[in-house]
Formats: sequence, structure tokens, C-alpha cells
Amino acid sequence: MSDRVNSLPFFYGNITREDAEDYLRQGGMSDGLYLLRQSRSYLGGYALSVSFRRECYHYTIERELNEMYAIAGGKSHRTPVDVIDYHSQESDGLVCLLKKPCNRPKGMQPKVGPFEDLKEKMIKEYVQQTWNLQGAALEQAIISQRPQLEKLIATTAHEKMPWFHHTITREDSETRLQMGSRINGKFLIRQRDLHGSYALCLLHGGQVMHYRIDKDKAGKLSIPDGKKFDTLWQLVEHYSYKPDGLLRVLTESCPRPEGENRGTHPSSINGLKSYTLPIPGRKKPTTTRYWMSSRCLSVCLSVPSNAESMPMDTEVYESPYADPDELRTSTVDRSQLFLEDGELGSGNFGTVMKGIYKMRKTEKPVAVKILKNDDNNPAVKEEMMREANVMQQLDNPYIVRMIGICEAESLMLVMELAELGPLHKYLQKHRQISMKNVTELVHQVAMGMKYLEEHNFVHRDLAARNVLLVTQHYAKISDFGLSKALTEEENYYKAKGHGKWPVKWYAPECMNYFKFSCKSDVWSFGVLMWEAYSLGMKPYKGMKGNEVIQMIESGERMNSPVNCPPEMYDLMKKCWTYKPDERPGFLVVESRLRDFYYDISSQ
Ligand code: ATP
Repeated sequence: MSDRVNSLPFFYGNITREDAEDYLRQGGMSDGLYLLRQSRSYLGGYALSVSFRRECYHYTIERELNEMYAIAGGKSHRTPVDVIDYHSQESDGLVCLLKKPCNRPKGMQPKVGPFEDLKEKMIKEYVQQTWNLQGAALEQAIISQRPQLEKLIATTAHEKMPWFHHTITREDSETRLQMGSRINGKFLIRQRDLHGSYALCLLHGGQVMHYRIDKDKAGKLSIPDGKKFDTLWQLVEHYSYKPDGLLRVLTESCPRPEGENRGTHPSSINGLKSYTLPIPGRKKPTTTRYWMSSRCLSVCLSVPSNAESMPMDTEVYESPYADPDELRTSTVDRSQLFLEDGELGSGNFGTVMKGIYKMRKTEKPVAVKILKNDDNNPAVKEEMMREANVMQQLDNPYIVRMIGICEAESLMLVMELAELGPLHKYLQKHRQISMKNVTELVHQVAMGMKYLEEHNFVHRDLAARNVLLVTQHYAKISDFGLSKALTEEENYYKAKGHGKWPVKWYAPECMNYFKFSCKSDVWSFGVLMWEAYSLGMKPYKGMKGNEVIQMIESGERMNSPVNCPPEMYDLMKKCWTYKPDERPGFLVVESRLRDFYYDISSQ
């Protein structure tokens, strides 16, 4: 959303209410003249300033939990622009209709808030320190989880600010403020308890005033009877330009002493040694870490306890061999593999069982594809070895990794476990899932496919049934049985003849010329998107393979799934471009999905 709003000529970014009034005055103050600015108190919210009868009126456009926007008590809309469009037709509580946008002066860009500059560095540091990630793994984590990470950083950014002094006592805060410069308005914030209560300590006329900052049920922070804010840094920013009930504005931050540059680690809080919850599958934090994991944060900083787990919170984000102490091997010793009762799935080849693989340092829950002992059919064994050979060359968080091959009572392919199973079945059973969540998963599949494209592999069986879920927020591409590595010279694979093919997922050139490329995977990805946004429905339902081919050849395409965002249906249709040369590649598809995902999840 933020990118789209940023490009609006009447959006001013992070300006104050007073600045907004100045711009409206410069714009002539006609009735219904309006501008949009970033809310300085609500994360992801906006403020609408309107002039009417020579007065200025300001309305907060809040971002609601369901990702809709509304002026408090008013109708909800999909975007802030929709709110404006609506109020151009209906005043519905506003002082007047919105008539004319007050555009930014020539050459002026929307004002960037102080947090924006810090954000990138903080996100990177947070991911590095919380999950101990480097290089591509770090970059992929940030790309796939940016909206969640931005939210986390925004609510913990104060810990990096020099004015935040953690859990010092009232007396200590007074001593610190009285030291060095004793300028009026010098301030610091200390943490009073673990439930979101803080104190703003302010020097005025040689005396220190202590203002309580409490968190209400909705998680908003305020001094008693004061304006409410989502974060401490927004509160400080506000009182730095306006006393608004305080004795005076905040002027100079009282810097935290050297060496206290750490986060609010649980053990630093009086009386509570450690209360990090044990999380199955969570990696051990690194010793240098001073940020907290998201789960720990939910306890320390009252991030809602239903905070979504991220792919990096699971054990299958990085390869088990990313740890240099674990020997990278393509064979698994049978004595280290323990199979559990109960099947995860089955197919022509045999069954998939859950198991535990004991490694040098850790034990990994795994999925084991067990070939049924069928001496008459060596082709099945060959196929499994081919699949293993492809999988062994791939290492990406959004692709099921092979851990190794085990040759014992049967031939077994040991893989990372994605316990929630195939995407289409999960969606059929969880129809309440949000579009944002579906988009998050589909975007991850696009990230995995972009990796395959970059490494010259074609999947050839991309479909929702072959996307497995690790959690509701973490998808991995699986089933490389038909996959091929492409050569440098040819960017496609030519099949020798027609096989048992998933025709409904195949591009026209696969059917007509047996040609498979990353572009034909893009076609399949379009069908996968259709499956995802229809919450697991069968594509081309009731139609036979040759009817589907005819339909495609005649230029017809599937209709949009009900409730599918138009932007996503548009992308599906792009994936179903007839000529592969005119079809986008995964580089473009991933970036379109990423933009849309950030758009609908931005704060
Ligand atoms: P297809 O017929 O779709 O090509 P297949 O016969 O090659 O499939 P897989 O898709 O590899 O078999 O596996 C069959 C089922 O086993 C999957 O649908 C899934 O339910 C389960 N399964 C496979 N791999 C895993 C895994 N890594 N983690 C969890 N479950 C898995």
C-alpha cells in the first residue's frame, strides 16, 4: 500500500498537523480541499486533512485488523484511496465532501519519517541476530517476511533509541537527567514493568517530572488522558514538536550510558530470570543476540501472543548441512533413521512415512519416501534416484530439501518434513484463511520457482498438490520426479514422447511440441495460483484433458476464482499467455506477487 500511496500527488508523508494546515492555507483553503498524510500515531494509518469554512479538520484513517481502512466509526474500504473516493461522494460524518486534492508543491517528495531511515539496517540486524542467518538465507528471509519484520521492528525500535534506558529505577533516571547538560526538556524513557508500562522522565526547571505511559487493551500507548500511539518512538516524536499536555516539549534526549546498548533481555528484568517459552523446532539463539525472537517478544513487549510464526522459526528454513559441524552426505545410515507409525502419504512408488534422523548434533523430524520392493520394476527405482539427484542439487528455503538416500530393507529418500501436507487439501479444510495468508504462501512458491529458474531447472509438475506446508505461513515446493536440469545451450527440455502428464497444468507448447522450460512452469504456476485463490478447487472441473486443450487453443481461460483479488487474476492470465516468449518469467512473477503481498500487508 505504502508505495502506491507514496506516488499520490496529494500525499505528504510524515508531516505534522500544523504543516498540513500550512499547505491547505497555501492551497487556498477552499471548501473540501484535502490532503493525505501519514499518521504519526498509528502504524500503517493515515490522516486526512480537509479545509471547510476557513477551518482545518483532521481525520485519522486507521488500518483495521482485517486489513481494511476506515475513518473511526465509518465504513471500511480496501485502501485509503477508496476512503477518499467514498467521501468524495458521501460526507458520511465528515465536515463536507472531499472536493479538490491539495497537491504537493512542485519538486517536493512525501516526507520520510525518522524511522524509515533506520528500518533497513534494523531489519537486517534483527534477522541476523535472531536466527543467525547470513547471505542468501538472510536475504530470502527478509524478502518473504518483510511486512511481519517491519511490524516487529517498529514495535521494538525504541530499544535502539538513545533515550530508552530500559528498566532503571525512578531514582536512577533522576540522577541520569541531572548529569551533564540540564537543558529544559531533556528526557528519557524507562520501562516500569513487563506489561507495557513505561515512564517518560522530563527535566524542567531543574526538576524531573515523571509521566506514566500505559498500554490500553488495544495495545495503544499513552500518558494519562493523552493522545494514543502504537509505538514509543511515535510518542516521542509527537511530544518533541508539541507539549500537548506535558509541561513542555521534549528537546534533548538523555543518552543511555555506554555499554547499556542491549535489548530488554528477559534476564535483565528484576525478579524474572528467564521466561522465554520453549518452542518446538526453534533454533538456539546465538550468544551475541540482544534482540529477541518474535515469540519471546510477544512476552516481553506485549506483541500479540498470536504473533504468526515465521519460516525462520522452523527447523527446515536452512539446510541441516548449513551447520559446518554436520557432515554433508548424500547417504543416510539406516542405524540413524527411526521410522514412526503412520503414513504421511502414498503413491505408485510406495509410501511416505514420518521419521527421525539422528544427526551429529541434532535430531531432525523427516519424511521418508519408501519404495515398495518391486523387483520387476527397476524403472521406479531409477525414477526415485533421478528425483534424488535433482533434489540434491537444490538448496532453498522454499523447496523441500533431500537429506539423503538410505539403501536398506527398501530404497528410501529422506527429506525435510512438511507436516501440514499438500496446499490444496489444507486450503479445502481451512476455508477461513485470509487472502493475505494465501498470497504469502503463493509468493513463497514464486520465490522457490525463481530459484529453480536461476539455477536452470524445470519442475514439470508444479501444482498445488506438490506444494507442501510446514506451517500455515510456510510453503515448500516438492515432488521433483519429473524435474530436469537444463543445459547451458538449451533453455528447454524436449520430452521424447507423451507420458502420463498432468495436462490441466501444462502449457500449450508442452502438449504440442513436448517442450518444457521455465516458461512452461510459469503456466503451471498460474494454474497453481488459481487453485490457491479458489481455496483448493479442482481446475477445469468436470472437463477432460482434450477439452481443456481445445479451450486453451481457442483462447479461452479459466474464470477468476470467487473473491480472488483482481490483481492476482490478472497475474494468472499473464501466466497463461499462449506464446512462451511473451509469457513473463519467474523473475517478473515473483516481483509482481511480492509487490501485491507487501501492498496488502504493509502496516
Ligand atoms: P504425485 O503423484 O503428486 O506426483 P508422488 O506419487 O510422486 O506424487 P509425493 O507427492 O512425493 O508422491 O508424495 C505423496 C504424498 O506424501 C504427498 O502428497 C504428501 O502428502 C506426502 N509427502 C511427500 N513428501 C513429504 C514431505 N517432505 N513432508 C510431508 N509429507 C510428504
